[in-house]
Amino acid sequence: MAGIPCPSCKSPIGLTLELIIKNPIMVCPHCKTIMNFEPPNDEIKEKMKKGLAEIEKIKNKYKGMVKFG
Ligand SMILES: [Zn+2]
Repeated sequence: MAGIPCPSCKSPIGLTLELIIKNPIMVCPHCKTIMNFEPPNDEIKEKMKKGLAEIEKIKNKYKGMVKFG
């Protein structure tokens, strides 16, 4: 899974949904912009976690067949 670039300086910083969920507040190592991806409420947080679980399921299903990331 390819990460998304920094929204400010467009540097490729390998931002992924997984990273965002684990670490919602990050600082870009290039432009020092603080990125806050903290979900505004628990409902959205849960939806993000479920989405991530689905990605993990797909990854496991194709383990050994497709190379991710
Ligand atoms: Zn940046």
